[in-house]
Amino acid sequence: MANLLMLNLETLKAAQSLDGEIHQANLLLTQIPEKRSHLSQELEGKKSRLTELDKSLKDLQLNLKEKEMELSQKEAQVKKLDGQLSLVKTNKEYSALQQEIASLKADNSLLEEDIIKKMDEVEVVKDEVQTEKNHFADITKSYQTQDQELLAQEKELQKRLQEITKQRQDVVARLPREIGDLYNRIAQKKDGMALAPVTGEVCSACQMRIRPQVINELTLGEQIIVCENCSRILFFDV
Ligand SMILES: [Zn+2]
Repeated sequence: MANLLMLNLETLKAAQSLDGEIHQANLLLTQIPEKRSHLSQELEGKKSRLTELDKSLKDLQLNLKEKEMELSQKEAQVKKLDGQLSLVKTNKEYSALQQEIASLKADNSLLEEDIIKKMDEVEVVKDEVQTEKNHFADITKSYQTQDQELLAQEKELQKRLQEITKQRQDVVARLPREIGDLYNRIAQKKDGMALAPVTGEVCSACQMRIRPQVINELTLGEQIIVCENCSRILFFDV
């Protein structure tokens, strides 16, 4: 009687090797979306500094505009009061008006100083925003490159997976139907690791000691023997 296991062992090993590769490719494939979403989250985080800076610039610009409007209103007020000077009848009214004008002008000159200071501030923050924008553009580019690499990897893995899945089918088809079916069932449950070499009378997959009777059956090789503990197909690693 031919040794059933020995006849099919090379084919089984070839199938397992492909299954191992399929399992690894699937594992890598599931990691890619996680990696990509991690990248985009990281980029969002880096964007927040720019967003904050941009907001503080807008606040400053708004504040500047308000001050400028206040100044122009007060300047119009001075002009209006200046016009009234020639219309007043008494010295008392005249000097009161003059005092009001002088006080408004003093306010305005403080306001002008404040505006100049704010304009400088706006310029400084504007520069910062621009620097940060350039920096962020560089970062974005680098992230996009990494993302594209991941997409390319994904495509490559999918292609490879298709190839090896086909190869695996062809290899398993070379096995006798029963052995092929058994192998498929175990491989599916054990992440593609359906075979376990026996070394020193121990199943090397689960470390369970094999009973002498099972060793005898395995030596006879008349049928496929599976590990009583982990259900993998046993073979002597020679
Ligand atoms: Zn085992």
